[in-house]
Amino acid sequence: MSVWRAFRDLHAEEHCKDYDQALNVLEEEYRATDTLACWRTEFVAVVEIDRYQIIDDPDDFSGWRKVGELREALRQECSLPPVVLAHTAPDDRGSYGLLDGRHRFNAAHLEGNPYIRAWVAHIGCCDGPAANR
Ligand SMILES: [Zn+2]
Repeated sequence: MSVWRAFRDLHAEEHCKDYDQALNVLEEEYRATDTLACWRTEFVAVVEIDRYQIIDDPDDFSGWRKVGELREALRQECSLPPVVLAHTAPDDRGSYGLLDGRHRFNAAHLEGNPYIRAWVAHIGCCDGPAANR
């Protein structure tokens, strides 16, 4: 059974905090609209997510504070909102572009969690539909 969803529908079901920003990236970088049924909910290997998104700026105090809070939440096994990813051809950055959830991703990375819950766009791959924009 097909479980392809549109970004708009996922957002209606489980509110994405930075929906407009993520949608902007989806449209500009991946040429897809919020009605393209290219999304699946998956557990993705954290090591496969864009490693350029790993926070390495020691002066990003608010970023580190957020990541610290999220690490604490992960340790207490709180369920966090899914990160928003786009499946891409693998390269030295990984196999998934990150559209939303940078702090959650960094927290999972630092906690050494192998997998993270994600909404994943498959645009023209894995039997997903072609870009529509
Ligand atoms: Zn794919």
